[in-house]
Amino acid sequence: PILQASTSEIYGDPLEHPQSESYWGNVNPIGPRACYDEGKRVAEALCIAYKSYNKTQIRIARIFNTYGPYMDQKDGRVVSNFIVQALQGLPITLYGDGSQTRSFCFVDDMTDALIKLMKSDLQSPVNLGNPSEYKITDLASIIKEKTSSSSELIFQDLPEDDPKIRCPDITLAREKLLWGPKIKLKEGLELTVEWFRDEIES
Ligand code: UDP
Repeated sequence: PILQASTSEIYGDPLEHPQSESYWGNVNPIGPRACYDEGKRVAEALCIAYKSYNKTQIRIARIFNTYGPYMDQKDGRVVSNFIVQALQGLPITLYGDGSQTRSFCFVDDMTDALIKLMKSDLQSPVNLGNPSEYKITDLASIIKEKTSSSSELIFQDLPEDDPKIRCPDITLAREKLLWGPKIKLKEGLELTVEWFRDEIES
């Protein structure tokens, strides 16, 4: 089977909350994120068409925000940015007022889900992520605490089309893959902070 690594971005700035697989999304087709989110939408469409016409075996994982060791220090994601900033005593950059939400899944839970998906016969897209939802301000506080950092919080412009809320409904994954995340955010962040600490010091 082919694994299509799709994304929660296909739901855009969602008008339904939490997002289940039956929701079609709210995506700006010509916005700055369009190459990514519309690109992922068309990739799902092509996979489904290949499945129908060519009987290709496909699995589609809609991957929600995932974090953990081995992230690139400079890839610009919120978890890596905040940890690196906190460990280096730099200002922690919140975009907008930080009230937007995300739901963060630890990488080991995600790989477990992907392996279960590939061993299953699930033909339709499935949400994979951790449904515990946090404001970005809460994430900053937890990371400050876990790093014992005295970094100040600063507020910068919110990127255009940044989704205001995001949380997966993982009922389908629980039922069909017998999967659910096991690692809580605080625990996963401790492991991630330790990894980044070693990286930065080496
Ligand atoms: N974000 C932030 N500060 C940063 C990086 C990101 O406040 O230094 C915000 C960003 O605007 C978004 C959320 O954190 O609302 C998650 O951003 P990320 O790029 O990690 O993932 P995505 O936007 O794809 O969910």
